[in-house]
Amino acid sequence: MTRPFVFPGLATRVVFGHGTLAQVPEEVARLGRARALVLSTPQQEAQAEALAGALGARAAGVFAGAVMHTPVEVTARAVQAYAAAAADCVVSVGGGSTTGLGKAIAIRTGADQVVVPTTYAGSEMTDILGETASGEKSTRRDAGIRPEVVVYDVDLTLSLPVGLTVTSALNAIAHAMEGFYASDRHPITEALSRDAMVAFASALPALIANPKDRLARSDALYAAWGCSTTLGHVTMALHHKLAHVLGGSFGLPHAETHAVLLPHTTDYNEPAVGGALNPIREAFGQGSAAAGLWHFAKSCGAPLRLADLGMTPSDLDRAADIALRNPYANPRPLTRERVRQLLQNAFDGQCPA
Ligand code: NAD
Repeated sequence: MTRPFVFPGLATRVVFGHGTLAQVPEEVARLGRARALVLSTPQQEAQAEALAGALGARAAGVFAGAVMHTPVEVTARAVQAYAAAAADCVVSVGGGSTTGLGKAIAIRTGADQVVVPTTYAGSEMTDILGETASGEKSTRRDAGIRPEVVVYDVDLTLSLPVGLTVTSALNAIAHAMEGFYASDRHPITEALSRDAMVAFASALPALIANPKDRLARSDALYAAWGCSTTLGHVTMALHHKLAHVLGGSFGLPHAETHAVLLPHTTDYNEPAVGGALNPIREAFGQGSAAAGLWHFAKSCGAPLRLADLGMTPSDLDRAADIALRNPYANPRPLTRERVRQLLQNAFDGQCPA
């Protein structure tokens, strides 16, 4: 029987293919915008400059200062640049850090956003913005944060290093994992996430063998779209809470932290969600979804231990306390003892039993 559901609708226009970067000027014009500020990290500045060149008279300039976790000081400088250039929209080319900066500008100025994602992190289809101020990370959801247009150009992912290919894909899989048991899930996100698991399961090994495999890159980016759409349309639980705590309060790197936590947060909730995680178990071919994800991550060369990401044994108690400070919904009841054990398991990096 189909569960009762509410489907909120999809608000973002999506262009997907090879060479679609050339369509960005047309998409800006379609929004009725005339002056785009192009955003990137310092590492992708040349790409941003080239895109500004292609935008011609529709380019208002380039701001290449995006960094991880969207610090409010960087946003303040970018908003200044946006105003000084008399821009009326942003074009964000890059991973989740650049998309985050575009969202932060949009929520402050009302700018329209065209996002060109170049990783699999999955921020582009969401109404979620995480920002850091004075070392504290906070997250909010608002319709004004969700990008108007996403242009997926498979060609731009050919340069993604294998390490980030793997960890940002596991970051995306984490969105699907929590989407499968979200109380507000619906058939659209379930179908996209199921498809995404199958696509990632075959694309990642192919990309490790050959990072320039265009077919596998296409499948992986399609999978990332599905996972991002899930993240943007349902409510996340323990996994995302822990990743937020470890990134925000302990400075752990974003994609790697998701990758390490994923088998263990899956293991925590799997016994409490009936067969909701079967699509993962089936795609990754082990007796449980948790074991499937651990073996898959290991075979892809992903980091497996929080110990390797800079966490120390004495951090684990504090992390458990912070993670439980504010209550939130999770399929399996949260107890201090179990969450502390989960963190220990992720610290040690063994395969979930
Ligand atoms: P990132 O955006 O920080 O990129 C990492 C590095 O890789 C950067 O130097 C970037 O320039 C480079 N890079 C990106 N694409 C490349 C490519 N194709 N070729 C070569 N280099 C490339 O990393 P990320 O993992 O994509 O994003 C992480 C950030 O995204 C975090 O701050 C996280 O909080 C945020 N995020 C937000 C959401 C949301 O919905 N709000 C969802 C997922 C992630």
